[in-house]
Amino acid sequence: MKITVLGAAGGEVTGSAYLVETARARVLVDCGLFQGGHRAEELNRPPLGAGVPPPDAVVLTHAHLDHTGRLPLLASTGFAGPIFATPATIDLTGLILRDAARIQTQDADRHNRHRLRAGEEPVAPLYSVTEAEQVLRQLRPVPYHDPVTVAPGLQTRWVEAGHMLGSASLQLMATEDGQPRTVVFSGDLGPKGTPILRDAEPLAQADLVFLESTYGDRDHRPFADTVREFIAILQQAVAAKGKVIVPTFAVGRAQLLTALLAWIFRNRRVAPFPVFLDSPMAIEASHIYARHPELFDDEAVAFLKERPLAQDLGTMTMAATAEDSRRINDCPGPCLVMAGAGMCNAGRILHHLRHNLWNPQAHVIIAGYQGDGTLGRQLVDGAKKVVIFGEPIAVKAQVHTLGGFSAHAGQTDLAAWFAALAPVRPRVVLTHGENTQRTALAKLIAARHGLTPTLPALGDVIDL
Ligand SMILES: [Zn+2]
Repeated sequence: MKITVLGAAGGEVTGSAYLVETARARVLVDCGLFQGGHRAEELNRPPLGAGVPPPDAVVLTHAHLDHTGRLPLLASTGFAGPIFATPATIDLTGLILRDAARIQTQDADRHNRHRLRAGEEPVAPLYSVTEAEQVLRQLRPVPYHDPVTVAPGLQTRWVEAGHMLGSASLQLMATEDGQPRTVVFSGDLGPKGTPILRDAEPLAQADLVFLESTYGDRDHRPFADTVREFIAILQQAVAAKGKVIVPTFAVGRAQLLTALLAWIFRNRRVAPFPVFLDSPMAIEASHIYARHPELFDDEAVAFLKERPLAQDLGTMTMAATAEDSRRINDCPGPCLVMAGAGMCNAGRILHHLRHNLWNPQAHVIIAGYQGDGTLGRQLVDGAKKVVIFGEPIAVKAQVHTLGGFSAHAGQTDLAAWFAALAPVRPRVVLTHGENTQRTALAKLIAARHGLTPTLPALGDVIDL
């Protein structure tokens, strides 16, 4: 068995893709887009080079764009085979790929207006909505736990990864030269005890493990502490009739915050006040979450059984249209607005920040990762002035950074997940982490288990 690392390596955190080759089959594990960083444009090509035949099948760990975003590019090189994923991953991949295609088309149109005026040739988007739609038809649902034959002689099992709805770690099994072989891909792992989702399920058998290392060097602030901090900010805002602006990732973070607000209102930690979910994509993602209660953890099931969320969220408005979004400006406060993009680099959040950043009574809650060079990162770093739509805006609002809502396991949870596999002494490959993070996790695994993890570069081949 041979595995080629085609993304999320060499210190890259995005672009996850691995080609697994046996004597009888070739299967791609994830097919993600590279996001951010100056190399993204050159790296976002079809994952298998020119002249290389397409794989027999693709298996997906979860729906995030950095694990699915190159699927249309793969299809453009002639891949027409099945793409296996859990039903919730299929639903969310549809939402995420259509959105990505729409944004890429809009970006290309904008560039081309400039290029046209400069007398240059137009550029094509990475892929169109039609191309995304085409590849979505190749998705095939799989259950959790039961092994599925995904290509000749190659079986795959999906188990809960606790990272987002439908997320999974994968166990790939084949017999090579009469020897059974098992490769595990952790996928992205969620933190233990994250609301709504079940915890990641540990695995006990592997000859080779690909482990993510996004937060391999540190732990997040405990969730309960973060909730207390969140409540204190809401209490302060309500008392001063201030607005609370929350840049929110549409899938996962928006649903976590919605459930948390319902819990806060139900338990009277803060009396209900107006809340807006100002993102058509987050609204759609919430509908998808609601369609998959079979994936919720016991606490979420009990909470929903006690009474429906809608009864707690009577003050919540879904702002689907641009007109709905504009009307939020007239809400006097207190109110809370969740809007995308999560890193404040585009979208409706920019309008809310422009209207509120200058106001000392307003609060901005940064509840997710902010990439280098984004407006969100400037706010985290304490900028006193920012530029939005070309207009300088003073930052007088109170900016709070809450670390404990992450969808990624911190070091302790990553180490605990791996500890279940350590007794069988597998080979370990650390991917999906910047170099500081994966080096720290490698040291910890070496010290605890006497194993020496490999830190591959892009294109490296691992033989098993
Ligand atoms: Zn992810």
